[in-house]
Amino acid sequence: MNILVINCGSSSLKFQLIDAETEKLTAKGLCERIGIDGSQITFSPAGGEKIVRQVPMPDHKEAIRYVLEALTDEKTGVVKSLDEIGAVGHRIVHGGESFAEATIITPEVKKAIEDCIDLAPLHNPANLIGVDACEALMPGVPMVGVFDTAFHQTMPEEAYLYAIPYRYYEQYKIRRYGFHGTSHDYVSHRAAELLGRPYEDLKIIVCHLGNGASVSAVKNGRCVDTSMGLTPLEGLIMGTRSGDLDPAILEFIANKEGKSIGEIMTVLNKESGVLGLSGGLSSDFRDLENGSEEGARALKAFALRTAKYIGAYAAAMNGVDVICFTAGVGENSVNVRASICKDYLGYLGIGIDDEAAKVRGEEKEISTPDSKVKVLVIPTNEELAIARQTYALVK
Ligand code: AMP
Repeated sequence: MNILVINCGSSSLKFQLIDAETEKLTAKGLCERIGIDGSQITFSPAGGEKIVRQVPMPDHKEAIRYVLEALTDEKTGVVKSLDEIGAVGHRIVHGGESFAEATIITPEVKKAIEDCIDLAPLHNPANLIGVDACEALMPGVPMVGVFDTAFHQTMPEEAYLYAIPYRYYEQYKIRRYGFHGTSHDYVSHRAAELLGRPYEDLKIIVCHLGNGASVSAVKNGRCVDTSMGLTPLEGLIMGTRSGDLDPAILEFIANKEGKSIGEIMTVLNKESGVLGLSGGLSSDFRDLENGSEEGARALKAFALRTAKYIGAYAAAMNGVDVICFTAGVGENSVNVRASICKDYLGYLGIGIDDEAAKVRGEEKEISTPDSKVKVLVIPTNEELAIARQTYALVK
């Protein structure tokens, strides 16, 4: 069965068509600048030439119409008709406390996703538009929601509650939710597979280090803590997000610069992280590794913050068997991984094999055979994980 995986952003849409039985990618692509002048669709059939078309996409429905057209095109498409698509898996960012696993989308589920818009005002509306557009264009095809927050719903309350008046949790559900759950789920399971050990026996720390970055602690098969919070702003230093800071900084900046809370949130989300720390040099880690003082300053702070989370989660689980690196930086940056592991984690008995640690974008054990904790690089594959969960529900 072919599963179409849709990841709808506010002005973009990524898609993959995956054969659920063989788990092979059939085609993938991206619609950009939806609702903005100059929109385009990029379509890459597996093993074929990439096709880029500039076409007007005033809304997501139109974008999905072009996606379906590309998939079924007589000459360059990969399926004969839409009947060959068995289900659609949608990445949904926020499921609140309602969803601890993937679910078939019904009107009630849509209502519950709508109820979480407060918690993810940029993402959930776009995700819902994607669901509506697919339903309209593919009547009768099951739609499945796979939530970024679901994997973290197993956290105990001591990990998810903030130390603010409890009524804020009761009234508004203010708590830690965590994100990148599909990635943490996929990578932690893959780590157990690679080590040939039962998932339920392991204490795993997953470092998802990309433009957005988060760490999770997975103990005996359950996520017990994660670094992102009510929103993806908390935790690690990211490309443009600050991660943890003293909340009093908001009032301080507001008083100094007469900025509103909304304006300061924009600074924290879009102008901070390694971009801010490097004095505006770049949010891309490749640019920071150029030998400049500004880049080095940002990279050092990033490594320290990440190492501190690893230490904290080793404590939270009373030990750690395996640490995994994934996402753009975690999979590719030999230097960032080395600063985290070699500068800070020796006390855990971690040894790094320098030759193996040169790996980029491939599964590899990078710790030495006598290392007390295994360190693995595991490329994440959120789309495959979404396709698997979708298939499991509809087959
Ligand atoms: P992601 O959000 O997982 O797609 O990760 C994107 C980020 O990965 C980019 O912004 C880069 O900072 C980083 N990245 C990708 N390739 C490399 C590389 N070869 N070395 C260092 N960082 C990289």
